[in-house]
Amino acid sequence: MQAALYLVATPIGNLEDISVRALRVLKEVDRIACEDTRHSRKLLEHYGIEKPLISYHEHNERERGEELLAALRAGDRIALISDAGTPLISDPGYRIAAAAAAEGIAVIPIPGASALLTALCASGLPTDAFVFGGFLPPKQGQRRKILESWAEVPATLVFYEAPHRITETLDDVDAVLGDRPVVLARELTKIHEEFLRGTARELLAQLKPANTRGEMVLLIGRGTTGIRDDRPIPEAVADAIRGGMDRMDAIKLIARQRGLSKREVYQAVTGA
Ligand code: SAM
Repeated sequence: MQAALYLVATPIGNLEDISVRALRVLKEVDRIACEDTRHSRKLLEHYGIEKPLISYHEHNERERGEELLAALRAGDRIALISDAGTPLISDPGYRIAAAAAAEGIAVIPIPGASALLTALCASGLPTDAFVFGGFLPPKQGQRRKILESWAEVPATLVFYEAPHRITETLDDVDAVLGDRPVVLARELTKIHEEFLRGTARELLAQLKPANTRGEMVLLIGRGTTGIRDDRPIPEAVADAIRGGMDRMDAIKLIARQRGLSKREVYQAVTGA
């Protein structure tokens, strides 16, 4: 097998979701770089693979990357895996893959599961064009800004979200994007796999405490009917400001949502 950095996808839940090729590569490489050695050892033990494991995670990416690059230069075959799914997708690996490619070291992808495509395919939302935004920012103001900046993108929007933030995020989706079709894909490939479908408001009503646990992907369909918001303009702006936006951003948001100029919204707010 060729000396290279192998980017190997592993399961996102169901241990059977790993390819025959991935297993062969993991058996044949000299070592495996992974985020959490204890976590990955369980997967490898399940398939009878015994290999030296090197921890490579977001906190040691720089130093460990140098060591791995030196080994790659010396002709080692190294596999990179993450805790789940495809490495580099909201997971470490970008730095070393980019550095290896820049040095002319072979970087070989071994494809497999990723939560974003798994969720998108079964969501029932359009798959012809989609945008993946990784994790939304934890702060409400920044989150709303990102949602607003993507409001007119003619594509399905896909995000990873943490269960403890999902209700806040759905509130923001409702406030910024209105009545779009939204899908929450939970615990994919696991026993409690579930797809919740509706508008953000409807999903908020459906979410029971049990549903707000587990891993989840949030998908938002493209706007078709425009933004629902019949509140008076000053109230809508005040609400956006309460949500963490500064005044000018809030004015821009409401102007865009209602097809008005910033000046018109400004005048409605200030009476000037
Ligand atoms: N590299 C992974 C991939 O290819 O999907 C993603 C890693 S990221 C650190 C972890 C996030 O992915 C979770 O917080 C969740 O949003 C999503 N995720 C991973 N596994 C999932 C699953 N089985 N069901 C739903 N979402 C999942």
